[in-house]
Amino acid sequence: MALHKGPEKHDERKISVNPFYGEANPVGGMTEAPPTHRLPDTPLAPNTAYQLVHDELMLDGNSRLNLATFVTTWMEPQAGVLMAECRDKNMIDKDEYPRTAELERRCVAMLADLWNAPDPSAAVGCSTTGSSEACMLAGMALKRRWTTRNADRYPGARPNLVMGVNVQVCWEKFCNFWEVEARQVPMEGDRFHLDPQAAAELCDENTIGVVGVLGSTFDGSYEPIADLCAALDALQERTGLDIPVHVDGASGAMIAPFLDEDLVWDFRLARVASINTSGHKYGLVYPGVGWALWRDKEALPEELVFRVNYLGGDMPTFALNFSRPGAQVVAQYYTFLRLGRDGYRAVQQTSRDVATGLAERIAALDDFRLLTRGDELPVFAFTTADHVTSYDVFDVSRRLREGGWLVPAYSFPENRQDLSVLRVVCRNGFSHDLADLFLADLTRLVPELRRQPHPLTHDKEAATGFHH
Ligand SMILES: *Cc1c(COP(=O)(O)O)cnc(C)c1O
Repeated sequence: MALHKGPEKHDERKISVNPFYGEANPVGGMTEAPPTHRLPDTPLAPNTAYQLVHDELMLDGNSRLNLATFVTTWMEPQAGVLMAECRDKNMIDKDEYPRTAELERRCVAMLADLWNAPDPSAAVGCSTTGSSEACMLAGMALKRRWTTRNADRYPGARPNLVMGVNVQVCWEKFCNFWEVEARQVPMEGDRFHLDPQAAAELCDENTIGVVGVLGSTFDGSYEPIADLCAALDALQERTGLDIPVHVDGASGAMIAPFLDEDLVWDFRLARVASINTSGHKYGLVYPGVGWALWRDKEALPEELVFRVNYLGGDMPTFALNFSRPGAQVVAQYYTFLRLGRDGYRAVQQTSRDVATGLAERIAALDDFRLLTRGDELPVFAFTTADHVTSYDVFDVSRRLREGGWLVPAYSFPENRQDLSVLRVVCRNGFSHDLADLFLADLTRLVPELRRQPHPLTHDKEAATGFHH
């Protein structure tokens, strides 16, 4: 979470209370205004407190118009009811809430099957708070396997993890927090993600693994996981180094199984040791759930698994935190049951159709150039065409905000810092109709932007925000 500071001078102001909100109070008449940055001395009536919090939150953006986020912003009312029914259940209390624990187990089994584990009953996995925690766990397993293999050289030797420079920030966190060197394959020309050959060349005897991303957050493109495994097979033949692959399928592991069945990226590849996904992205569940799976017990060192019995039972767990709500896991199971393969395929195909259709029509506006077309993740990135000099992507992002559209503009990393793009994430709920409205707004803006003397958005940080 954002790292916040304590109260500052201006925080001393009180919340202003509409007198209409105050409950009748025989002593003071209406409710007194509570302070904002220290605990009020006395309670408020529930209706007053509700209204104050509710009013402040009105200023948040409209989540359905947020084209920056990958995270689910709409679920069925039935899912909402189930989540409300489970919000008091702690996921860690496996013995107290055995049915919730069983639903988690079934979700893992379904994912092992969906991702083609050679022996689904040998696969192991768990729910997490999201892909970030799942990636931490997967990275820890890779590191521990390397440490065990290199017990004679460690701690002298420094472990490294190979990845593309386009990885999501969670991998930089993993490397920082667990003191692993991040070896990043830079972008090159129009290649905006990892190159298998270049990744293999970065590997040595201290490489704990290579991360392949199924669905780059920068442009929605799939990294070539099968080619990456082939390059590492060749490396092993040449040098004897046997480097495992982790697939970060935060988005794509819930897209490719339904829309790209011929694409081989998962446990069918012997080198893929583990896979993660965000249940709250294309898994179609509200924020707060991810999944990590390992192909078999060898891929997840036993000593990382904890068995605690103070809640009764001794269910093995692998997690960074302890208490966590059960509601999201229940909602994931509901969604699996509700949609099935055909339902997921239909929902994801619609998102992809919206993405490819919108990308095509944006390209036809002539002022823009597509980097990706939305035909892998239902996500595309585009930039201004070379002849456009009067405005840039930051101006477009800022002006789109006037219509309520949240579309991030950001610059690319190393080797392509010259390139800045806009990215549109098409999720369930961003319908063809909303896409039409978006295109109409963008089309209306173009002539105005062309009349600008030069790009105008100086405070680029404030204009936009890149949401991985
Ligand atoms: C979103 C994302 C993550 C982080 O996932 P959270 O569920 O938000 O923690 C990691 N990797 C990739 C490729 C992502 O898209």
